[in-house]
Amino acid sequence: MSFDKPPKKTYEELREILKELETKETQVNKEVFKLWPSRTPEEIKEDPLFYEKPITQPHSMTQEEFLGSLKEKKVPQEIIDVLVLVNVDYRGFDSKTYEGQIIIHEDLESSITKVFQRILSETDFPMTSVSPLSMFNWNSSSKNNNSGAFDPRLVSNSDEISDHTFGAAIDINPLLNPWVQKGLENPSYDLSKRGTLDEYSAVVKIFEEEGWKWGGNWENSKDWQHFYRPEIGRKYYNKEEVKE
Ligand SMILES: [Zn+2]
Repeated sequence: MSFDKPPKKTYEELREILKELETKETQVNKEVFKLWPSRTPEEIKEDPLFYEKPITQPHSMTQEEFLGSLKEKKVPQEIIDVLVLVNVDYRGFDSKTYEGQIIIHEDLESSITKVFQRILSETDFPMTSVSPLSMFNWNSSSKNNNSGAFDPRLVSNSDEISDHTFGAAIDINPLLNPWVQKGLENPSYDLSKRGTLDEYSAVVKIFEEEGWKWGGNWENSKDWQHFYRPEIGRKYYNKEEVKE
């Protein structure tokens, strides 16, 4: 028996830690907000296509900054230990190629790399930005239509751990591809807009061919942005598949 590390947490223990994290305030990084200023509803009304504008190439995180941002958030060490920072290329709305970064579970590193290579070479699908959620202080990524993966949290309005906690889920263009409750309309889901996903999208086909599941296939709600790998939570925490 090794005494180097504390025993791995159970699903229930991890869930309690995440509940506590939700109530903690995180430090606001002003440099980050210069890159992605938060917009009022009025400002968005005046500039509804703001997410199509070429973004200033964001500062890429170093491994050290990445680890620092997780410590600040007080993410359990056993989760940090299995995450990797992956560099990917993606196409902006201006058709130029940009560099992005994704924090993901180490078992999915080669898969997500292949998915992004295929999206770039086989489709003309645009994204606003692809950056770690810590670059948005964990709270404004979706509003800015940023595509990101790792996010230590529970599923919204639920007691279950989100697959994003393990770096085993990624949201693509979340502003354009919102979570929609069954029977309800969401005006921000508008298939005439570029960057929107539906069952015919080449991007969905690529993710599925590379082994990912899609929230657009759920029956009781649709999470159009959400691609996930439930086997990661199952393997490491005995977690049942959760449909957000
Ligand atoms: Zn998601």
